[in-house]
Parts: sequence; C-alpha cells; structure tokens
Amino acid sequence: MFKSEEIEIIRKKGVKRITLRIDKIKRTPILTIPYLCRKKTAYEFAEKNRVWIENQLIKIPQKKSIKAGINISILGEKYKIKHQKEARRGVWIEDGFINVSGEKDFMERRVKDFLKKRAREELLKLSYEKADLTNKKINKIVLKDTKSRWGSCSSKNNLNFNWRIIMAPYEIMDYLVSHEVAHLTHHDHSKDFWGLVAILHPNYKKSRLWLQNHGDKLFSYF
Ligand SMILES: [Zn+2]
Repeated sequence: MFKSEEIEIIRKKGVKRITLRIDKIKRTPILTIPYLCRKKTAYEFAEKNRVWIENQLIKIPQKKSIKAGINISILGEKYKIKHQKEARRGVWIEDGFINVSGEKDFMERRVKDFLKKRAREELLKLSYEKADLTNKKINKIVLKDTKSRWGSCSSKNNLNFNWRIIMAPYEIMDYLVSHEVAHLTHHDHSKDFWGLVAILHPNYKKSRLWLQNHGDKLFSYF
C-alpha cells in the first residue's frame, strides 16, 4: 500500500467518483475523492493503479538545480548562468549570460523571479495584442505555477498562464496565448475555435505537438 506521505487526497463535495492525477511539481499522485468516501477505498484505488502511477513518476524529468554554468532557454535563446557574487545588480542578461548577483544560496530564487517577471511582460504584451485582433477584452491576466495546465480562460474572461512557458521557444508562447485568447470568443474546443486559433497562430498544430512532447522538460528547474 502507498504511505500517507506518498499520496495526496483531496475530498470534494459534488465529486461522484475517485479520480487520479499526477502533480508534476510535487511529484505526487493526487486522488480526488467524493466527500464521504473512506480513505481506505482511496488507498485501494491508488494501489490498483500503482503501475500507472510509478510509470508516470519515472517520466517526470529529474529536478536540476540552478548553478553557475548551466544553460537556461528564454523564448528559444540559450543563456548560461554566471554567478557575479560581488555585483549589486540583481539579475541581468549580457552577452549570452544570465548574470546573477549576490550569495549563491539565493541564485535559484533570483533566477526564478527574473524568469517570472519576464514571462509576465511577454505574456501581457502578446495577450493584449492578440485580444485586440479579435476585438475582445481581457478582464485580467494571472500567472500561475500550475501542475499540468499551460493556460486557461475563465467565463469572466480572465486568462491564466503558467509562467514556465517563458522557457519554451517564442512560437510556443505565441500558440499558447493564441489558444487562450481564442477562448475569449469561443469557450469550447469547437471547429470555430480552432479556426480562430489558426488565424492567430497559423502553425498551431506543430506548436501544440511541441508542447505535448516537450512541455514536461520545462519543469526541470525550480
Ligand atoms: Zn483550450
């Protein structure tokens, strides 16, 4: 049987059956169970799916730590991390390097914050540009660190994006934004929806496939 620390159980009202998914950031299987379901039943369900769970966990790339000399891609450009302990400039890009000032222990946090900030700038710019093309208004844009979703669009026209998309090539971010912006017009995945995606991002099939095949790699750091 799985131990309690190996699995996360979420009890939810209105849920009729047990569902199982993998949280790629926490590297943990998550069971969503009906409100009155017994824990024992949940553990048995997990046990029945042990092979699937283990295969999924193996597939998640090992976490790599941020240190001097490693490469990070930002919108398809590769940069090498350089530690500039004495500098007092935060994080800055120069000549193919991401320079990080300050103590080594804070490098990872600093690089992550830098990438998130960059992601926010790029995602906002692209989203408003594309929304203008479709004559739609965005209510607000929120950046998240979601487990498996790259983006979503709510019925209130809020767009949510996973900031990690900044580590993908530019055209992939363009596709993601096009996809969510198209949902401002079509809140479904109908033919009309894909028709609009194709206008906003003609290469959508290729980009979508890239995200399916390589998206997990963007979870290697942090
Ligand atoms: Zn969608």
